[in-house]
Amino acid sequence: MVDGKVCSALCKTSSMTCPICNATISKMNDIASARSRHIDNESLQFGLSVLQAYIRCFKCLLHIAYRLELKVWKVTKENKEPFERKKRTVQAEFKNKMGLSVDIPKSGFGTTNDGYMARRFFANPTLFSEITG
Ligand SMILES: [Zn+2]
Repeated sequence: MVDGKVCSALCKTSSMTCPICNATISKMNDIASARSRHIDNESLQFGLSVLQAYIRCFKCLLHIAYRLELKVWKVTKENKEPFERKKRTVQAEFKNKMGLSVDIPKSGFGTTNDGYMARRFFANPTLFSEITG
């Protein structure tokens, strides 16, 4: 079992594309093309890590929560202020209700989001949805 970065390296795909279907970020929401994309069976041999799925789903839901009021994914100069305000509100809610620092950059690499944190959130979906809206 390997994580997404290692799988991308082994499949010789960019870490910005899906190693299974080669979809880029801009193609991910194109449901019609998703149904007809070719699946690279070779890439399936590396499996899908449950822990990585938890982390990715957690981060995705968190980032959707930050953008709920914006209704767009792309953060621009015009919508940066309401985005940052909502992000701070969500982070404060997580800190107050669960005692965890969510999505805080770590010096040198990544953020505070990890598998432990993701598992805690999915163990309490009612509180998670209450915080994220
Ligand atoms: Zn894919």
